[in-house]
Amino acid sequence: MNSPQYILALDLGTTGNRAILFDALGEVAAQAYKELNQYYPQPGWLEHDPNEIWQDTRTCMQQVLRNMGISASSIAAMGVTVQRETCLLWDKTTGEHLHKAIVWQDRRTAGMCRQLSRRSYEIQARTGLVLDAYFSATKLAWLLDWVKQERPETNLDNVLAGTIDTWILWNLTRGQVHATDHSNASRTMLMNLASRDWDSTLLDLFGIPVRMMPQIQPSLGEFGKTDPELLGAEVPIAAIFGDQQAALFAHGCDHPGMLKCTYGTGCFLISHTGHQVTRSQNQLLSTVAWTDATQAEAKSVNYALEGAMFTTGACIQWLRDGLKLIDSAPETEPLARQVADTDGVYFVPALSGLGAPHWDMSARGAFLGITGGVKREHMVRAVLEAIAYEVKEVVEAMNKDGDKPIELLKVDGGASQNDFLMQFQADALGIPVERPAVLDATAQGAAFGAGLAVGFWDDYATLVKNRKIGRTFEPGEGAAQIQENFATWVKAVERAKNWALV
Ligand code: ADP
Repeated sequence: MNSPQYILALDLGTTGNRAILFDALGEVAAQAYKELNQYYPQPGWLEHDPNEIWQDTRTCMQQVLRNMGISASSIAAMGVTVQRETCLLWDKTTGEHLHKAIVWQDRRTAGMCRQLSRRSYEIQARTGLVLDAYFSATKLAWLLDWVKQERPETNLDNVLAGTIDTWILWNLTRGQVHATDHSNASRTMLMNLASRDWDSTLLDLFGIPVRMMPQIQPSLGEFGKTDPELLGAEVPIAAIFGDQQAALFAHGCDHPGMLKCTYGTGCFLISHTGHQVTRSQNQLLSTVAWTDATQAEAKSVNYALEGAMFTTGACIQWLRDGLKLIDSAPETEPLARQVADTDGVYFVPALSGLGAPHWDMSARGAFLGITGGVKREHMVRAVLEAIAYEVKEVVEAMNKDGDKPIELLKVDGGASQNDFLMQFQADALGIPVERPAVLDATAQGAAFGAGLAVGFWDDYATLVKNRKIGRTFEPGEGAAQIQENFATWVKAVERAKNWALV
């Protein structure tokens, strides 16, 4: 029998689920994708259907094998990377979820966070995270309360909790493995960042029994094997990452000072900070980058600082699906170029409150400065510019925390395809923006991790070196005007803060 020639990456994002086959050179050989339905039951709430995520994952895996004309025995290992913080409860005897998954952007537990505000310092010390509805802890507490109230017949001894990686792993292994990795666990607000285990004080605080929680394992390591009936043969699951951490890994950011920004549903600027926890003075999160069972103890744990901006690409999607101002996301680029500026319009992308560096759960989206001459093109351009301004704010926070200023921004993610946005970003920051040829850094990171963990590849540095740069955007003209506009945008942000009653 021939030796396996591929690594399969599952990239289970907020807007869609994807299976990608990577060949021995680390290049994309085939992929399959399905967009994911978004459910907005109330303003500020967002849910996903866990069955849809699992069914689409299965369909994409089977489709990608079919398209490539290969069988599961050609796959050396599988890596899984997922939208983080989104979580659910399910019954281990039936495999049924008890409620739809609550998505990371969902603000329904903002009131619970407000009530806990006296504990925020302690929570940050234990988890590295700012107390916010963004993380899984309050969402799991809400789900458990809901189950107790709405489905009192449920036997809680049969209930399992998990983020999307845990749910998918459980299904891939047909209920054999209930586990997560450190990078996803570090986003639940229930993991102690120093001990990297569930924090009993926080589990008590949120009323979550430890027996419901998955086992936490290294990101690169053995999680189990897929059920043989699923793909026709067992495939080892050898890496799990949160999506942002996977992209950091793909970019080769494995030592302090190296950083990347992913432009997806939200924007996430993450900087590797070494093998010890680093704390921010500027409202950035301390988090696990990844852990590696194949490395010596001293080098096995990697930490990061992160600036999370919740709704950036999501605002483009809202222009398409909510406002119906555009037919497709790429259309924003020619539209923005049709006008010289935004005609004085500023957009605040706070559709799910504001993350770094403001952390205001009650902020809401706003267009300001509208006058009678404003056209669709100006509004679209204002949304793109706002994304770049948000990233600029977080780069400034990162610069305040670091020893030396950031000199280059490595980017990836769906919205980084937008050349207008990338050029505007370089102009706004005054530093080059480097975009790789393959934008699926998230999936690439999961594939690299799995391939390295099983010895399909033996050198991380070579994999990273072989990644090609697609385009570098150098800062150009217009920087002075952008600085002036940025100051006005900051004013607009202040007006959108402290808005909704939570
Ligand atoms: P996620 O992993 O969060 O689901 P992706 O990296 O797949 O996100 O990127 C999808 C996001 O990128 C969507 O929110 C979409 O609106 C946005 N997007 C995709 N293409 C473009 C484009 N050309 N210009 C602006 N935004 C885009």
